[in-house]
Amino acid sequence: MVVAEAVSKSFGSNEVLKSISLEVKRGEVMCLVGPSGSGKSTFLRCINHLEVVSAGRLSVDGELIGYTESRGKLYEMHPKAAALQRRNIGMVFQRFNLFPHMTALQNVMEAPIRVKGLNKAAVETNARALLARVGLANRADYYPAHLSGGQQQRVAIARALAMQPKLMLFDEPTSALDPELVGEVLDVMQNLAREGMTMIVVTHEMGFAKEVADSLVFMDGGVVVESGDPTEVLSNPQHARTQAFLSKVL
Ligand code: ATP
Ligand code: MG
Repeated sequence: MVVAEAVSKSFGSNEVLKSISLEVKRGEVMCLVGPSGSGKSTFLRCINHLEVVSAGRLSVDGELIGYTESRGKLYEMHPKAAALQRRNIGMVFQRFNLFPHMTALQNVMEAPIRVKGLNKAAVETNARALLARVGLANRADYYPAHLSGGQQQRVAIARALAMQPKLMLFDEPTSALDPELVGEVLDVMQNLAREGMTMIVVTHEMGFAKEVADSLVFMDGGVVVESGDPTEVLSNPQHARTQAFLSKVL
């Protein structure tokens, strides 16, 4: 579903991603871990085409992201075409980013109506079903300010799912939450994984990685240092840098 081949990304002279190659198969969950500044968010943003890669190829569901290919050459994609690609990829950030002036239900309904121009009644039915799926059927009419952080993050997940994405990207979805609210968000993500969603999750929740992920990738300094079966990587890290990092987060 996601194939990165020698993906590099620079900001000026700062090479933040250095030839990243990895693959996430359909229905698989990959957890991405690494120290601050290692390039995790940048990599997710490249997949979602919020950043354009400087070199290499990145494809989602067989489609090259951000570029069109013609006679063996790559041309940067028109922003409108890029926006179409982005619709298929859901993203959930550390901060909940809900629209504060809209209820939970309105937040979930917003994109399908505005972007896809779908019929309002059908969108509402689907949005209510999504809120039920994240355990918030009885909070549909609440504004974000009246929801806990964990509830807001679950609305954010429902909102991303409303666009029927092929792939979900999570960037530290629980790091801004009080510890007692982390579990309810991870549970929703675990259910999503069980239902077969392809997911890439940047997280320091190693319990989640062990239980839910099919693969764990450790990044440092813009390179993939180590990757593999989560239990294997966590219990038997091969590289000193991985060991040092894990000793801090475990
Ligand atoms: P954290 O765990 O703190 O979220 P991260 O692994 O997500 O870190 P990134 O946010 O991807 O790291 O940042 C990697 C590097 O890229 C950092 O040195 C950062 O300063 C730089 N960087 C990220 N975005 C930009 C940008 N838009 N312009 C310039 N530099 C950037
Ligand atoms: Mg980050």
